[in-house]
Amino acid sequence: MTVFRAPKGTYDVLPPESATWRAVQAKLTAPLGTAGYGYIETPVFEDTALFRRGVGESTDVVAKEMYTFDDKGGRSLTLRPEGTAGVVRAFVEHSFHSGQLPAKLWYAGPYFRYERPQSGRFRHFTQVGAEAIGVDDPALDAELIALAWDGFRSLGLTGFRLLLNTLGDETCRPAYREALQQFLRGLDLDDDTRSRVEINPLRVLDDKRPQVQAQLADAPLMVDHLSESAAAHYDAVRAHLIDLGIGWEEAPRLVRGLDYYTKTTFEFLHDGLGAQSAIGGGGRYDGLSAAVGGPDLSGVGWAIGVDRTVLALRAEGIALTGDARCEVYVVPLGQDARRTALVLATELRRAGVSTDLPFGGRGLKGAMKAADRSGASYAVILGDRDLAAGTVEIKDLRSGKQTTVPRQEIVKELKGILS
Ligand code: AMP
Repeated sequence: MTVFRAPKGTYDVLPPESATWRAVQAKLTAPLGTAGYGYIETPVFEDTALFRRGVGESTDVVAKEMYTFDDKGGRSLTLRPEGTAGVVRAFVEHSFHSGQLPAKLWYAGPYFRYERPQSGRFRHFTQVGAEAIGVDDPALDAELIALAWDGFRSLGLTGFRLLLNTLGDETCRPAYREALQQFLRGLDLDDDTRSRVEINPLRVLDDKRPQVQAQLADAPLMVDHLSESAAAHYDAVRAHLIDLGIGWEEAPRLVRGLDYYTKTTFEFLHDGLGAQSAIGGGGRYDGLSAAVGGPDLSGVGWAIGVDRTVLALRAEGIALTGDARCEVYVVPLGQDARRTALVLATELRRAGVSTDLPFGGRGLKGAMKAADRSGASYAVILGDRDLAAGTVEIKDLRSGKQTTVPRQEIVKELKGILS
């Protein structure tokens, strides 16, 4: 018989570590709720053309990494490789632009890229994301950076850094692009990289290979070619970050893998993660709304990788609590007691006390072992004879101390002990 395994590049999130996972998502999204961001959910698959047009034909994500398929109706659909295109599509489709702007939205869920799997890089991964769409204000760029920063800090992380850059806008990027192309055409590059120079020259700056990097020392940089308006935007973002006490490193070659970015771009790196060190990233996108058929409005957003944030916590030795451990374990000793056990466990759960009990007809020894293993602080022991007398036993599983309590009082009694 075939033993099935999770597909290559995917993995199962299992208890008890899954509790860390959920805590990471909750903590990363909590700051957004305090800043007026509303939750949005969009489909896991979208029209393939949305990503082609939105993310950009020349990006690795679109050219090489999409999970694209035809459905039975002959539509070309793609499992979403990132969140922004779908959110902007929804913004346009539901005419958010005629409401209050910016539209502030957050989301979380699975994303899919056919990448070469390695530590911290998966084909199915989870992101938490946030977007503020419809207003071109540097204060929003800074607000979003601060919300990501606060999310990481609320997890206890300290080993991360913020890289900041600007990619200019339509007033200066085309001229810079040409200047960069001219420079790059004079270098000794392989054919693939040469064709990238023609299609997406900014991406060449991001090439990690030493033989390419060595030739890029004198490459023209966007920051030195900014128009007045783009420079003013960048200056304002930096002034806001100073006001907010957020430190950053200038990263004049930070380009990022998606085509829609303009003006501010940023990335959060964690130094404990090895090669795949980006735990989040984002930036402003001036042309995306128009590119997907909407009004010409700017937006800004980020996505944080949940998988890598969990790895970063592990690298810093931070353990998050909030697991599914029960506080009380109910141990029935006889046949009648078994029925009462489920009733009592349900009463306790309804009163907010997390409770478990043995299943599958275990004997007393097995049930007590399960109680110990469960990590519960207290066992409630139900003997048929005690029940006939209207009492139960509470056993403190740490000290071993046992007390008799009237059956009717047990919920109140345990709530009192545990509060
Ligand atoms: P991006 O959409 O490429 O800007 O990615 C935003 C964040 O998502 C990155 O900083 C990573 O933390 C995470 N991420 C992107 N791709 C992957 C992947 N293949 N596996 C795990 N995490 C990823």
